[in-house]
This record gives sequence, C-alpha cells and structure tokens, in this order.
Amino acid sequence: MDRRYDFLVAGSGIAGLFYALQVNARQPDARIALVTKKSETATNTNRAQGGIAAVLSNTDSFDAHIADTLRVGCGMCHKDVVERIVEAGPGAIEKLIDYGVQFTMAGDRFDLGREGGHSQARVAHASDLTGREIERALLAAIRAKSDKIHIFRDHIVLDLIIFRSGSENRCGGAFVFSEVNREFEGFYAPITMLATGGLGQVYFHTSNPRIATGDGVAIAYRAGVAVGNLEFIQFHPTTLYRPGREPFLISEAVRGEGGRLRAQDGRFLMDNEHELKDLAPRDVVARVIDKELKRSGDEYVLLDVSHLDPNHIRQRFPNIYQECLGNGLDITSHPIPVVPSAHYACGGVVSTLHGETSLPGLFTAGEVAMTGMHGANRLASNSLLEAVVMAQFAAERSTDYFCQRDFPDTVPIERAFHSSLAFPREKILIAHDRRELNRVMSDFVGIVRTQDRLLLALERIQRIKNAIEQYYLATPATYNVVELRNLATVAELIVRSAVGRKESRGLHYLEDIPESRSEFLHDTIIPGLSPQKGS
Ligand SMILES: Cc1cc2nc3c(=O)[nH]c(=O)nc-3n(C[C@H](O)[C@H](O)[C@H](O)COP(=O)(O)OP(=O)(O)OC[C@H]3O[C@@H](n4cnc5c(N)ncnc54)[C@H](O)[C@@H]3O)c2cc1C
Repeated sequence: MDRRYDFLVAGSGIAGLFYALQVNARQPDARIALVTKKSETATNTNRAQGGIAAVLSNTDSFDAHIADTLRVGCGMCHKDVVERIVEAGPGAIEKLIDYGVQFTMAGDRFDLGREGGHSQARVAHASDLTGREIERALLAAIRAKSDKIHIFRDHIVLDLIIFRSGSENRCGGAFVFSEVNREFEGFYAPITMLATGGLGQVYFHTSNPRIATGDGVAIAYRAGVAVGNLEFIQFHPTTLYRPGREPFLISEAVRGEGGRLRAQDGRFLMDNEHELKDLAPRDVVARVIDKELKRSGDEYVLLDVSHLDPNHIRQRFPNIYQECLGNGLDITSHPIPVVPSAHYACGGVVSTLHGETSLPGLFTAGEVAMTGMHGANRLASNSLLEAVVMAQFAAERSTDYFCQRDFPDTVPIERAFHSSLAFPREKILIAHDRRELNRVMSDFVGIVRTQDRLLLALERIQRIKNAIEQYYLATPATYNVVELRNLATVAELIVRSAVGRKESRGLHYLEDIPESRSEFLHDTIIPGLSPQKGS
C-alpha cells in the first residue's frame, strides 16, 4: 500500500512529537504522518526521570550553562551549537508549558534540581517522572490535531525511499512494515524527519527500553548519510540486574542517601577509589564496577541500603522499592544486584543544528542526531533540551524547504527493498545472534576498552553481521530481524569509531592509552554507504 503525506515523522519521543506540533503550527494545512514502531509511549523520553536543563533562574546565566556543557564535553563540543541550544532553552520550556507540560513548581518559580556537572540548579522536572509528563502533554496536543497529524503505531521504518532529482539523490519518504496488517507500506513525503531515539539495546545491559535499537543510525548510514562520534556512549553506573526484562534504573540518589556499593564477596567497592567514595562522579563509579566485574567474572555487584532506616527508604524511593519488591527483592533487608548499563549515545546521524542531513529531504532530531552539542560526554539533562530545541529549529527549516520544493507525483525509486516476503526461519538463530552481539559489545566495547578487545569485537561483529545479512534477505518481515540487522550495523559503527580514536577522552576510555592526545581533538565521522541501485 502507498500513502502520500507532506511530512513523514519517524518516532514518537520528545523530538518527533514536538517536531510534528511545530510543523503543524507553521503550516496548519500540511498533512503529517507520524509512524512509531510500538505504542506511542514506548520511548526513551517516557523513561527520563531527572528533567530538562535550561537557564530558568536569575542566579543562573547562559554563560554558566554553556561553560558547564563545554567542560563536561572534554573539548569536543561545537561551541556555536551549544550556545544556540542553551540560549533557546528558556523559550523551549515555555513552549512545552504552552502544550500543557506541568513542571514541579516552588511557589511561582520552577523547583530546579541540581545534577552532576552543573554549577547551578537548572533542571526543570515534573517530580521524578519528567519524561512521562512531557509525553503525556505532547501526545494530548497531537491528538487534538488528529485531522492533520495521523499516528501510525506498530509501524517500523525499514529504509528510506531515495530517488533522483536532477543531479542529486533525495529522500522521498520511507518503506515501512506494519505490524498491524503485516504489510509493507510506502510512505511518500517530500520531508522525512528521523527522530528514532537511542541505541542502548546494542549492549547487553542498558537503561534504554526495547525500542532503542539504533534504527535511525543504521537507516541513515545505509542511505549514504554520515554518522559521527559513535564511540562516545554514556553508561549509567547502576541499573537493576535482571537480564531479559525491561531495564530499570536505580537512581544515583540512592547512593546520595547512603547506599554503598559492594562486591559480591562483601567488600566495599569505592573505599579506596575516590575521595568521595560512593558519591564519586558517574563515570568513575561505572569504571570501578566494570573493573570489578572483569576481575571477578561476576555478573553484577551489590548496592546496599539495608543498613538505612527501612521507613525512610520506602518513603524516599517508593518507585524503586516497589519495582524491586515486584522482583521478589525487599531492598530494606537485601542488597540490590546492579550493573552499569548503556544509557545515552552522544553521537549519531551527522546533522546541522536545524536537523539537516547531507541527504536533501531528510531531517533528524533528538538522540539519534549528532549536532556536536554533547562532544565526548553529555552534561546531565542536556539531551531533552537538545531534542526539543532541535525539533523546533528543524521544523522552521524544513517547512521553508517544503515550500520551495516540488515533489513529483510518481517518485522514481532508485532503491527498492523488501519486494517479497519470504519464508520464516528458525527464531533461535535470531535470538542467539542478538545475545552474542550484545555480549560482545558489553564485554569488549563497554566502559573500559583496550585496543585488542576492540579489534576482537570488530571481527566477531562482522561475522555476525554477515550471517544476519544472509537471512535478512529471506526474513525481513519480523521486527526481530529488522532490529537485529540495525543493531549489528550500529555495533560495527561504534567499534570502528572507537578503534580510530587512539586516546582516552570523555566517555571513550582506553586502558592502554589512558591519556588524551591533541591530534584526536576532532569528530569521528564515518561516511554513509553509497546507495546502490535496486537490491
Ligand atoms: C532511563 C532514562 C532516563 C533518562 N533521564 C533523562 C533526563 O532526566 N534528562 C535528559 O535530558 N535525558 C534523559 N534521558 C535521555 C533522554 O530521555 C533521551 O535522550 C530522549 O528522550 C530521546 O528522545 P527522542 O525523541 O530522540 O527519542 P525517544 O524518546 O527514544 O523516541 C524514539 C521513538 O522512535 C521510535 N522508533 C525507533 N525506531 C523506529 C523505527 N525503525 N520505525 C519507527 N519508529 C521507530 C520509537 O518507537 C520511539 O517512539 C534518559 C534516558 C533514559 C533511558
């Protein structure tokens, strides 16, 4: 089935929803298709707890927020991008409020939180469920525009439609597989917005929900669009250890309240590692846990709050207490098994601040994009900020572009995918390859890396990737295979990026080259594949 729209948006997180609303505000007659591969709220956005950073008090300043962002980014942030995004922050928060987001207030002021790396309290939040509140409000605003913005849930974007226009390739929409009617559909549109979020699921342990399989990075790369800085993956030190189930973050505030990290043999892990012990910065704690897991071969370490007042724990962390209890674990009397987990991708599809990619007609925003905002490490709560500001800038630029462009009635497709549905294969192959890929990434391309382990990972990933390509051609019509193929591509891109960076900087830490080297003070860019005809 073919569908024609003015704008196609892939993703229903903060970036996709905000973009669709902003396009609608600028061009009320435009018809917008918003496709999302699961339910509308299955997003990283929905999981965000801490909040969104912006200069919102008169004791704070743009200069201070910019300086904090640049310092944490370890010399790799694009200063002009940081300045523009930070300066647009207060306006973006106002727009979110206009769409109905209810931030927690202290009287007539924002109740601003202070997070690691920030020199000021500047994180606007909605209790500890900020992302859920943002999703709720933006989705309600979108539903109020249902005559113009059509949501297609359970629709997964497979690849972009690319066609020749004059001397250039252009994006003309996307091929989509609908889980609803189990059909391939062509969504044709002069503007496509890729807002497909993160890639944490490349790793065995991740805080990201199951949708975060890096599809956008793989899709753009296959379409010839460059990707960048993928070696910079942020790990959260403490996620509940429960492999195979939806991830659950154990907030850093648990250590703030006196929680202690222990090895499985009972040793306190942080005592001799940092003067702040358990309150050491996030990356230091993650590295210590990683070292312990590699040394001991254990699957997890322990986060112990059993020495603290049980009533206080239940009151202070009701959500964590209940979630663990649901897993048969009473944290007031037993330690919590935790592992560090892949949390945020600083790199992604190379894009301007306005979401433009190197492929005309293709825009991007949010975690899938690489604007240069985060450099080699992300300042906490800057990601929701970047997503919303970029979505707004991209809406401005792409609506201008839309007005200037003619879109042909029939799109001569240069690449055709998935023209036939073939036989299903044994599911064990898919499950096994995914597990192996995840393990390789967590064991060899995690928090602490070595050059040897990276090369070993590359070799194994390429082998898995080759196998996947074989059966992908025969079985594209299952989400598992589509996602696995994307995961393998993204894994390879992460490792290739990491192999090229022969230094330690920000989130990329090489045990055998622990120092930063000035010759590597530049982005790691991998050009996209050259789009082939047919396939
Ligand atoms: C546990 C957790 C806590 C966090 N806390 C914070 C915080 O406090 N502050 C902060 O700034 N950041 C936080 N982050 C990061 C932040 O939430 C994300 O970076 C941000 O929400 C990304 O928004 P997005 O719109 O780019 O992507 P997402 O919100 O992940 O949305 C992506 C969308 O794309 C869809 N999609 C993906 N692939 C396809 C495909 N092939 N076809 C169709 N649809 C597709 C998905 O289904 C989803 O709808 C947190 C992240 C996690 C995981």
